[in-house]
Amino acid sequence: MRGTVMYGAGDVRIENVADATIVEPTDAILRVTRACICGSDLWPYKDLTPDDPPRVMGHEAIGVVEDVGAEVRNVKKGDFVIMPFAFSDGTCEFCEEGLNTSCLHGGFFGNPQIAGAQAEAVRIPQAEGTLYAVPTSEDPAMLGSLLTLSDVMGTGYHAALMAAVGEGDRVAVVGDGAVGLCGVIAAKLLGAEQIIIMGRHAGRLELAKDYGATDVVSERGEEAVERVREITGGSGVHSVLECVGSEQSMLTSMQIVRPGGAVGRVGVPHYAALPETANMFFKNVTVSGGPAPVRAYIEELLPLVMDGEIEPGRVFDRTVVLDGVPDGYRAMNDREALKVMIEP
Ligand SMILES: [Zn+2]
Repeated sequence: MRGTVMYGAGDVRIENVADATIVEPTDAILRVTRACICGSDLWPYKDLTPDDPPRVMGHEAIGVVEDVGAEVRNVKKGDFVIMPFAFSDGTCEFCEEGLNTSCLHGGFFGNPQIAGAQAEAVRIPQAEGTLYAVPTSEDPAMLGSLLTLSDVMGTGYHAALMAAVGEGDRVAVVGDGAVGLCGVIAAKLLGAEQIIIMGRHAGRLELAKDYGATDVVSERGEEAVERVREITGGSGVHSVLECVGSEQSMLTSMQIVRPGGAVGRVGVPHYAALPETANMFFKNVTVSGGPAPVRAYIEELLPLVMDGEIEPGRVFDRTVVLDGVPDGYRAMNDREALKVMIEP
């Protein structure tokens, strides 16, 4: 079968890779209907070295179950399913608590150990706990929204929950990527009154407004902090959704949160230590977050997608076939595309 292999920074190739096959009796094989490129795939695209082992990329997909192992019962051949970016057994103490990304038998897709979903098919470990069956859809817009439940919509929702967004709150979303935009959707769902999107890309900011953003801050650094203070009555916001993971974005987040507020971070951190820890202490600021247990959120978010109440699939602004994936990486890295969907 064909798949997307990353060899080093900027070096993405479409190649014949090992067929996805049942290895453990708890596995399933998923024939990929749609996959996509994630903002977090751009980190190795920028800094993977040729000394790092190559990997089949991709951790977001929807598709049709093609085969199941002997111990897989509640998922069957022919099911149309969402594949969350982490696999999990659904039964351990952490899965029971809804923290599937800490599953004792879990792991992540798209690394040197576990092949990813930017391919024709993918092996799903712990298929019973991992896959979530949904009604089949022929509507391309609906496919996009279902696909976001494998990562970005659930991740934006996690950021909003970790930032303790509540009714009537002032919220800032740092980052205008797909996760940030889904964070705007989530903040609105949770009742935020003011939602400030921080970014500079005109098309993305328009979509953010459609999703419920009330204010746009395009300044950077100190100026951005000043601007947020100005439009929040001087004190900053109750909740910050940090959706980038850079030192600068975390610094800005810590500076715009009001005393007693919370920062929910979902950007994979590319900093060694939290900035502004003294300020964090004296302002009684909570910092929370991590990899989103998106499997646990599908239950809540799926009905909203099916009813058309939320349309996270609008973050996809380009669709490519497998051969177009290397250029899709380039386009996202150049910020020419917001989020690229793959139709293998
Ligand atoms: Zn588990």
